[in-house]
Amino acid sequence: MSEKRIAIAGGGPSGLACAYTLARQGKEPFLVEKEDQVGGLCRTINFHGYLFDIGGHRFFSKNAEILELWRHVMGNDMLHVERKSKIYYRKRFFNYPLSFFNVFKNLGLWESFRCVLSFILNKYFRKRDESTLEGWITKQFGERLFWIFFKSYSEKLWGKSCENISSDWAEQRIRGLSLRVAIRDMLSGNRKNAPTTLVRQFLYPRTGPGEFYERLKKNSAERGATITTGRRVVRIRHDGARIVSVVAGDPRSRSGEEDIPVEYLFSSLPLPDLIKMLDPLPSSKDVLVAARGLRFRSILIVNIILDRKDLFPDQWIYVHSPEVKLGRIQNYKNWSPAMTLDPNKTSLGLEYFCDEGDWFWRMNDVDLINFAINEAEKIGITSRRHLIDGFVVRNAYAYPVYNLDYKKHVAVIREYLSGFSNFQTMGRSGLFQYDNSDHALYQGICAARNFLGHAKCDLWNLDSNRMYLES
Ligand SMILES: Cc1cc2nc3c(=O)[nH]c(=O)nc-3n(C[C@H](O)[C@H](O)[C@H](O)COP(=O)(O)OP(=O)(O)OC[C@H]3O[C@@H](n4cnc5c(N)ncnc54)[C@H](O)[C@@H]3O)c2cc1C
Repeated sequence: MSEKRIAIAGGGPSGLACAYTLARQGKEPFLVEKEDQVGGLCRTINFHGYLFDIGGHRFFSKNAEILELWRHVMGNDMLHVERKSKIYYRKRFFNYPLSFFNVFKNLGLWESFRCVLSFILNKYFRKRDESTLEGWITKQFGERLFWIFFKSYSEKLWGKSCENISSDWAEQRIRGLSLRVAIRDMLSGNRKNAPTTLVRQFLYPRTGPGEFYERLKKNSAERGATITTGRRVVRIRHDGARIVSVVAGDPRSRSGEEDIPVEYLFSSLPLPDLIKMLDPLPSSKDVLVAARGLRFRSILIVNIILDRKDLFPDQWIYVHSPEVKLGRIQNYKNWSPAMTLDPNKTSLGLEYFCDEGDWFWRMNDVDLINFAINEAEKIGITSRRHLIDGFVVRNAYAYPVYNLDYKKHVAVIREYLSGFSNFQTMGRSGLFQYDNSDHALYQGICAARNFLGHAKCDLWNLDSNRMYLES
């Protein structure tokens, strides 16, 4: 292929939204996705007719353009779902969003009193280092509530102490929530101004989020985009000022590599991977050090099908109890009945957080299913004798880790990448921002508009306050 192409690396929400926007403007972008399916973290996996997300994916946005895009692409195939979720902690289930009487009943009079006392002490009399996750949450809610509702889950998620995580994550995730507001809303039942993390109702495609992305792919292809799956970007050639070509190959071997000359490159590849793929590598040691300093937390999901009609009414349960490694449980028939082939069965996603290559990541799938079933039995969710089948999904780049120095590393890379005149990076991993799919979609649209000359958006600083966030 000698013709220069507009290339897009990655077929997740940002890559597809970019392809879709370009194709609607008469361009013919060429998208390369390493998986066999598009959708990235938002794809839906079909296992013997049962449908599974990579963790449940709510569709919720405050961005009118994204809401219109979902409506336009999905038509009547979008469900309006009432959120039902709980927190499991020390053998008790707390409604989440929290309800006053439920919390009071579960904690008891004495513990509730201690929580309020600890809140007053921390809020008004103690100094905390609010640049860390621990300091920020303790200041907002007090030590005891931090231990009960934040510490164990956050430490499972990040794999490190909350003292070593930047408070940026909490500020994004639970922005606007304070104990005073929470108690006021718990008592009044007011959800109107609930912080974005607690949204009560969301949209969900009838057959899972992947359906939306498959339609986006089809729509883009019909207008001239080429969407190639099962091909991995392995190298990005440049001359220091411009990207010259992209080398794509088989994700499982080095055979069949193809050098695609590019006019322009949009990338949603994880930021550190992008740097490592540059050919030649950046001559500045600082850029390489910065790339090495950015880490992702991985997700490993044990998906199982059970011979049980009804297990629990929630879409998901957060598992805070430290005695199990399990982080969250998804119950897909409660997202949409169409996710479960047989209504007399239940399909669950048991979510674990780990690091790529650690002992858990490397465990074989049969042992992982056994491990997960043991934990589900331990907390009383189900029993091994109901297990029909299961499979495991791993994703190495699930969560950009907000270490205390991550901003410094991102700034170095950002500065370096600004030297390329025909390149934009976008998306959750591409910008190293803990954002949801509505945000990634919008970044893809804005990147395309920048290229077309229809906008001048700074993708690194799109207004995330208009979006919603959740782990
Ligand atoms: C467990 C979990 C639950 C979530 N829940 C929600 C939710 O409820 N609602 C919501 O809106 N958002 C949710 N999110 C966030 C959402 O998944 C992301 O915001 C969104 O997927 C980001 O889109 P993206 O295009 O930036 O990246 P991704 O979805 O990561 O897509 C990047 C794509 O690039 C591909 N790629 C990577 N390397 C290469 C390569 N070398 N060559 C070619 N292709 C490559 C990947 O395979 C992938 O398809 C959740 C995320 C997680 C982890």
